[in-house]
Amino acid sequence: MRYAVIGLIGGMSWESSAEYYRIINRAVRDRLGGTHSARCLMWSFDFHDIEELQTAGDWDAAGDVLADAALRLQAGGADFLLICTNTMHKLADRVTASVQIPLLHIADCTAEAIQRAGLTRIGLLGTRFTMEQDFYKGRLIDGFGLDVIVPDTAGRKLVHRVIYDELVQGIISEDSRKAYITVIDQLVADGAEAIILGCTEITLLVQQQHSAVPLFDTTALHAQAAVERYLGA
Ligand code: GLU
Repeated sequence: MRYAVIGLIGGMSWESSAEYYRIINRAVRDRLGGTHSARCLMWSFDFHDIEELQTAGDWDAAGDVLADAALRLQAGGADFLLICTNTMHKLADRVTASVQIPLLHIADCTAEAIQRAGLTRIGLLGTRFTMEQDFYKGRLIDGFGLDVIVPDTAGRKLVHRVIYDELVQGIISEDSRKAYITVIDQLVADGAEAIILGCTEITLLVQQQHSAVPLFDTTALHAQAAVERYLGA
């Protein structure tokens, strides 16, 4: 018998990849019981290299290294792929084109959960790339009919800075949590019915108890979708 294998393109950052690994393995154990865990492969980048390419705006080179990771996972026997970051879904098409196995897109998993909850006007938190560019928001709006709002300029700057200067470095600060809650409250005042934690490290800082409206945790939703596909395969 041939078993399914999950392929994870991780290390962006490893702080959130560790969450993927934990969530996937726990969910498989909960579903199958006993000593079960998930068959998976992870390619884990040195995030320093990725951040340099992002900062330089060298998305072509970033696409090359992500495609290389995808090929390694495919060669290792992965049946499908996850890119364990929202931001690097900017390169989802490049990754998809480089391999024969499918990619489970983080924005699709998130939007489907929002649709199931019957919500439409959604606040989005993430890196400035995710909040400001079209590759992610556009997919939510055009593909799923969501009405997506983002923080104002100062709010976006704060959310982005905390991700790179703190969360990907494993720093969890009470001051930053309060600042994020203020940004979330402003989005709710602007009509957001729910908030997408659209960066895979934000869940390390902000959880449901910090918000009056539902939080859609992309890390958990993406990892859980991987488990569904894995068990269904
Ligand atoms: N993990 C983050 C995300 O979900 C940010 C790090 C990155 O740029 O990949 O967007």
